[in-house]
Amino acid sequence: MIPDKIFQDLEADIPRSGENFLVWKRQTASALGAPIPTNSNLIQNYLAYCQKANREPNNEILKLFQRRSIRTLSGVAPITVLTKPFPCPGQCVYCPTQARMPKSYLSNEPAAMRALNLEFDPYPQVTNRLRSFQANGHATDKCELIVLGGTWSAYPEYYQLWYITRLYEALNDGPDGKNFEEEPRIIDANIPALKERLLQAQKINESAGNRAVGLCLETRPDHVTPPEVARLRFLGATRMQIGVQSIYQDVLDLIKRGEKVEDTIRANRLLREAGFKVDMHTMPNLPGSTLARDEEMYRVLFSDPNFKPDQLKIYPTIVNEYAELHQWWKNGQWQPYSDKDLLELSINIKSKYIPYYTRINRLVRDIPKESISAGNNITNLREYIHAEMKKRDLHCKCIRCREARNRTANLDEAKLFIEKYDCARGLEYFISYENSDRTILYAFVRLRIPQDDINPELAKLLPDIVGSPARSGSARAGVAHIRELHTYGKLTPIGEHDDGIQHAGFGARLMAKAEEIVREHGLKKIAIIAGVGVRAYYAKLGYKLEQTYMTKTL
Ligand code: SF4
Repeated sequence: MIPDKIFQDLEADIPRSGENFLVWKRQTASALGAPIPTNSNLIQNYLAYCQKANREPNNEILKLFQRRSIRTLSGVAPITVLTKPFPCPGQCVYCPTQARMPKSYLSNEPAAMRALNLEFDPYPQVTNRLRSFQANGHATDKCELIVLGGTWSAYPEYYQLWYITRLYEALNDGPDGKNFEEEPRIIDANIPALKERLLQAQKINESAGNRAVGLCLETRPDHVTPPEVARLRFLGATRMQIGVQSIYQDVLDLIKRGEKVEDTIRANRLLREAGFKVDMHTMPNLPGSTLARDEEMYRVLFSDPNFKPDQLKIYPTIVNEYAELHQWWKNGQWQPYSDKDLLELSINIKSKYIPYYTRINRLVRDIPKESISAGNNITNLREYIHAEMKKRDLHCKCIRCREARNRTANLDEAKLFIEKYDCARGLEYFISYENSDRTILYAFVRLRIPQDDINPELAKLLPDIVGSPARSGSARAGVAHIRELHTYGKLTPIGEHDDGIQHAGFGARLMAKAEEIVREHGLKKIAIIAGVGVRAYYAKLGYKLEQTYMTKTL
């Protein structure tokens, strides 16, 4: 228990820098004759002090206590959860198969460890993360649910429906998770009843305290078919991670991936036609590839309209004892790149090929060193790369390297930029507000204008939501899609205002610009793939719920 006097003194003289805050923490520890208090401990004590004194907590002090504030600087609190182990249709030679774990995950990866301890139950995985964010002083009004584990599309339908419903129910119940104990251990596989329950949970989430602004699932490209895309939308998914790994067929064959490059091309197109954001996983250093082929792969990924991912994960191949590749490495059939070669390759990828519209979500997997038998084990490779690029005066244009975070000093000078590019037989617009030299990105919207005929099966499954441009006549029948609207900066709770980017009006201005472009193309309708938690926001801009999308007729 920290005495009131300490907080009274703190309120009278708030440290203005991280360094001064550290000094204050040390002084507090020595005054109490105790170890240096953790930020989470400080927050709990401070909130208890405010409650006792019947006063509002001081926001500046709360901000000071926020640990790992970087987590919500992307504007959204990410909640990563894992599904239970289930057989995967893939036989990929690099993929670990560990007992009691979903395929491709190891029990000592941080998110996997948390999930294993909770027996992969979705509900407490969410409520625990909410508690942990809140204990560290973060708002959890806007959450993105990220579901990992095996191939999602290969899980039974009843499990998918139950799993996603429980995620929404956990968000609706909040950090205390009051309805955890009531759930029976055996899942009732009554599909219509499960569907009904999911719709109800989504409806409640539209105005809940912790809203799902996005839902991300991961699957194999060969599983992305029109019916699967429609199912994913029913669940509320807004972003898909797809395992591309390589764009060379001989490499895919060698690693026993069991799919074709055309599967990736088709999946990318179907997902975009339904408005999804597409995050492609890629793996340099796979058997059959070389440094030169790998660099060429990233050049092609961003110059060939069949690919051009919105988001990218780069996972250099590593070997651990649970994968078939381990034996290949032992036999000398596969060798990892040296650290130096991997560093140079990564620098080339980042400085030469990444466009303004792509976000590199991850560079290397979160696998603890002790599980890596061979391959990159520099877990902070990203920092090494950035330090080296800085030395050579090289820059990466990726969204993540430029997102504003707390660099909000010159918001008034933000300029509008428009990137236009062909992708997957549609026309994509990346419209953004940035500083003038494009090193700070404040907000952006992704708009897609259909160019070619849409997949007819998909058009039938999502009628009036996806539509081909009419072949003749002045009014075109196609539907434009807003695939993403994102405003960076610290997460500002819904209904509250501060002087940060999230409430600088960029969202509404970007939407107005997107609508103007849609009109110029002669289209009459826009559909937005909105997370259920952002439906209310779009409703204020005149959009209505139609099936699982927010739409507007212009
Ligand atoms: S498809 Fe994915 S999860 Fe399945 S074996 Fe291949 S890499 Fe592993």
